[in-house]
Amino acid sequence: MWEFSDDVTALERGREMTEHSENGVNQEKNVNPSADATKDNPKDLKREASWPAVLFYIHLNILGIYGVVVLFTHTTLVTALFTTLLTFFGIIGVTCGSHRLWAHRTYVATPALRIFLMLCQTMAGQGSIYEWVRQHRLHHKAFKTPDDPFYSDKDLLHSQVLAQIRTLSPKQQKLLDEIDMSDIEDDKIVMFQKKFYWILYLVFFVLLPINAPLEYWDDTVQAALFVAFSLRYMIVINVAWMVNSAHFVWGLDKNFKQSDSNLIFVITKTYWPQYHYLMPWDYQTGEFGNYGEGLTTILIRVFAALELASDLSTISTDAVKTGLTMAVDSGRPVVECLREAGIAEMEKYPKVCRAYNK
Ligand SMILES: [Zn+2]
Repeated sequence: MWEFSDDVTALERGREMTEHSENGVNQEKNVNPSADATKDNPKDLKREASWPAVLFYIHLNILGIYGVVVLFTHTTLVTALFTTLLTFFGIIGVTCGSHRLWAHRTYVATPALRIFLMLCQTMAGQGSIYEWVRQHRLHHKAFKTPDDPFYSDKDLLHSQVLAQIRTLSPKQQKLLDEIDMSDIEDDKIVMFQKKFYWILYLVFFVLLPINAPLEYWDDTVQAALFVAFSLRYMIVINVAWMVNSAHFVWGLDKNFKQSDSNLIFVITKTYWPQYHYLMPWDYQTGEFGNYGEGLTTILIRVFAALELASDLSTISTDAVKTGLTMAVDSGRPVVECLREAGIAEMEKYPKVCRAYNK
């Protein structure tokens, strides 16, 4: 089922986001301002180790792995299910919330849904929505250049691990400061979370999940600390980091190291990142599952059915074909043509009209 919003604003939002922050056009034209890094002062490109982040990473993994042992030795089924549920909330806070809603504006959410997603995102323990969005927009803008905070020109190890334990270079910090965040600054719920992030983090991410197994179903202290907290943290934050690094696993680029592509033996290779970096404004991009059938996509449809979400921005297969034909005929960038085809398609439908196309 494909839904079209009642006007073209959703796609226009996508267009604005693409213009502001996407890599696609830059990649096509190879005109990224920082593509020629040799002109930069080496000092401006240097990234130092962030020792607090290094210590955090060591503890995260040691305690999380110990949590796996505790899970099978000192944990009740209730705590295991509780941990799974909280992990799920944290992941949808990132995929439905900070990624699809706030970073790319692929749909519009009511205040109630935004509060829910804000609390879920707090349960990812990955920093505030504001910072997440800012870094993700820079990631798209500088994709596959040395300016990408997540090392998109290197490999999965750099993107998933090393990028998280190093400071940004002065140049990256400067580029980050230039990211347009005006739409996010207008969102009171996001700005509330930014202001009180550490209090919310302490209450919703740390204290309540540790307290619940001890208080309500008498589980062990080990289970509360190392499963409900440490193991959950290790899983949720690694999944959330994958939003910026999954293209090394699911991507098409043949230049990546062989070790990365071996992961196809344990997970499905859907090539979704290729689509997402071309059309980040489409809410149906599937992080988990195929296009149009992924977990996040289905959840957004459920939110829409409950009238909590609207203006779901997407494009039909026919419009994609039209866009690709336009690109071939005109020699213009594919991203630009797909965007135009999407907007032209949206304009065909009268207001308050929903088309269903299987
Ligand atoms: Zn994205």
